[in-house]
Amino acid sequence: MDTAELRDKARRHLGPHFTRGQRWRAAEMPVFVRGEGCHLFDSEGRRFLDGLSGLFCANLGHSRGDIVSAASKQMDLLPYSTNWGSAHPPAVEAASLIAELAPGDLTTTFFVNSGSEAVESALKLARQYHASKGEPQRTKIISRNMAYHGTTMGALSVTGIPKIRAPFEPLLEGVRHVPNTLGLTGDCGPAAELDCVRSIERVIAEEGAETIAAIFAEPVQNGRGALVPPDGYWPELRRICDQNGILLVSDEVICSFGRLGSWFGSARYGVTPDLITFAKGSTAGYAPLGGVIVREPVIEQLFDHGERTGFTHGATWGGHPVATAVAAATINAMREESVLSNVEHRGPQLRAGLDSLQRAHRCVKDVRGTGFFYAIELMADRSTGRELTDEQSTRVLQEVLPKAFARTGVILRGDDRGATMLMVSPPLISGDEVIGELLSGIDGMLADVEADVPA
Ligand code: PLP
Repeated sequence: MDTAELRDKARRHLGPHFTRGQRWRAAEMPVFVRGEGCHLFDSEGRRFLDGLSGLFCANLGHSRGDIVSAASKQMDLLPYSTNWGSAHPPAVEAASLIAELAPGDLTTTFFVNSGSEAVESALKLARQYHASKGEPQRTKIISRNMAYHGTTMGALSVTGIPKIRAPFEPLLEGVRHVPNTLGLTGDCGPAAELDCVRSIERVIAEEGAETIAAIFAEPVQNGRGALVPPDGYWPELRRICDQNGILLVSDEVICSFGRLGSWFGSARYGVTPDLITFAKGSTAGYAPLGGVIVREPVIEQLFDHGERTGFTHGATWGGHPVATAVAAATINAMREESVLSNVEHRGPQLRAGLDSLQRAHRCVKDVRGTGFFYAIELMADRSTGRELTDEQSTRVLQEVLPKAFARTGVILRGDDRGATMLMVSPPLISGDEVIGELLSGIDGMLADVEADVPA
């Protein structure tokens, strides 16, 4: 099929995710046909830098022989088997590697197939854990404003973005959203006194601690733009959970497997959560996989003391042999190639480049993030404090940026959840040349925004 036919059939037969229907029908959507390292090629042979690593997942670049061969070997040997009462080597290997790398006593992984499913599973696990301890009334959840935790009904209930919740309400009862850490980072004074911490304690007092099952939070929150927590915030979350018998769930669908420069983001902030959810980077985008990693005492409770003894949950594709073989190959490749050191070493370089673009462009309000995970918040003019109007924001996101991605040859993602933002999240293997290409592309995009939005 040539490009015109691909586009025509896509318009008629392919359902796009989070894409305006009219735009899908009317616009010439990009059609990518091949990947190589940090770059993608479209159906007309043009080359693009994959500046968002797909959707925060293609962390090791595209078309690597070692990962392809791990998948292909597994397909040859045993393409399908379950983790329902039986085991197979790739799931055992991936789970053992994860246990080695996860913080503290998080030693058991339930594999599923996506981030949403991981969050969904963590919600169910938290409820069953409390029920098995004789506290079935602990069903409520605390999560944060503007946080994205996925799209299935349970995960969407935990998600705190009104725009994407609204069409599906009523959602799960008993989910309370509290302030996130926007505007707070580094040393903000005693964390226990911050409003974002106090508000959690207020909600617990209002609802009754004995009714709360879990607090869900990302180490660095993606929704509202790469919110790096203030010093002491995560230890406060741990303290509050410990004092109130609540499970702490670190949603690391983005923040694990190196995105922040560590295997797991919570470890970076000095805390061992009770559950960690992961997905994306666990297979570097080569296969769909997600999972929940569980602390030993929680597993012990579920397996040995619960009425039903065992997690009453499962999925046909959970721990799929090919996906878990890919996860093991991904972890091994990351270790052999010291990918975490690359992020540690080049994260500050990327940050410095973005900061200098902020100084050079009036349309940059703020740059936030850490490691290889950043958000550039846009406005009309920093010198006058003028924000983008709704109309300008829509135009920037729907027209200016897509054209700028094509013009500069760098693909990023525009986001309008709470502000107009450009998300930046390059493959974790990016070297100097790729970082240079990325920064120069962003420079061009910001110039295009300024050409469209008067000062
Ligand atoms: N949780 C977080 C923190 C995420 O960033 C995402 C997706 O971006 C999800 C959950 C949902 O993951 P998925 O799209 O794989 O369902």
